[in-house]
Amino acid sequence: MILPRFDLLEPSSVKEVCQALQTGSNARVIAGGTDLLVNLKKKVFSADILVSLGKVSELKDMSFSDEKGLTLGSAVRIIDMVDSPVINTNFPALTAAGAKLGSWQIRNRATVGGNVCSARPAADTIGPLIAYGATAVIAGPDGTREELIETIYKGPGQTTLGKGEILQAIRIKKPSAGTRVSYSKYGTRQAMEIAIVSATTSVTIDNGTCVDGKIVLGAVAPTYIRCLKTEEFIKGKKITEETAEQAGQIASESCKPITDIRASADYRRQLVKILVKRNLLNSVAGN
Ligand SMILES: Cc1cc2nc3c(=O)[nH]c(=O)nc-3n(C[C@H](O)[C@H](O)[C@H](O)COP(=O)(O)OP(=O)(O)OC[C@H]3O[C@@H](n4cnc5c(N)ncnc54)[C@H](O)[C@@H]3O)c2cc1C
Repeated sequence: MILPRFDLLEPSSVKEVCQALQTGSNARVIAGGTDLLVNLKKKVFSADILVSLGKVSELKDMSFSDEKGLTLGSAVRIIDMVDSPVINTNFPALTAAGAKLGSWQIRNRATVGGNVCSARPAADTIGPLIAYGATAVIAGPDGTREELIETIYKGPGQTTLGKGEILQAIRIKKPSAGTRVSYSKYGTRQAMEIAIVSATTSVTIDNGTCVDGKIVLGAVAPTYIRCLKTEEFIKGKKITEETAEQAGQIASESCKPITDIRASADYRRQLVKILVKRNLLNSVAGN
């Protein structure tokens, strides 16, 4: 597989990136390149111009305060996200997801924005970001707009970002007290494995009862999905072995995974049941 020819532009501000993306008919953003270059080689898509984010320092910023929450520049590398004590303390499921992404080499190059914008149904950071209620700050020729990460996906590899738009940053509010978010991913190998199924659960516990919850599944549909029936089921209940088992069962019945080269639909449904149950029990056990 030979990488096709392209011109590389290296602007130094977000404004210039958006302008550069409007030059020519087939310009694309390149961040770490770990997804893009593979897909260009495989001719999954094409690009005449690649616009690099590498020299845009404002996209590599990370900031956090209790009041404003976390702002994560889109070009923050996965390794820096995983190594951040602030993220690990306040958003541990994001750390867990990042730590399971690819290998050391991949995490050293890959960015969180690239993971989100790859729009793969198995991309590791998307589940936790949806569970934490993260917002995408999208910069474009007409300024910036904000949209929930949950709603930016139109299909595999497709987002609502228009021509000249980029993901500038991700914003997440600090979770309320009593909220626990857990991420788990199943693959046949321990490392370098795209998820066969991933599950992210968020539960807010008050006086031993679940008062709010989100169940987010990856690799069981063309995009990440939320299991609203399971979320309804756990609300108002104590998370016990029995409740968690039933929640897993409802989640597995309400998703419609496909059979592909990596797993059958039935196997994926079984995994959903197990991962949702395990996450819920881990959350109440404080793991
Ligand atoms: C060997 C290998 C193992 C992998 N393992 C995993 C894994 O376990 N889990 C996983 O989730 N992924 C995995 N990946 C996929 C990939 O590494 C990740 O999705 C990574 O986070 C992509 O980030 P990047 O910065 O390299 O993105 P790039 O490859 O640079 O870009 C990916 C896509 O997003 C677009 N894009 C990038 N940044 C922006 C932005 N700011 N605004 C708008 N569009 C943007 C690009 O145009 C491109 O379409 C693996 C890849 C390889 C090669």
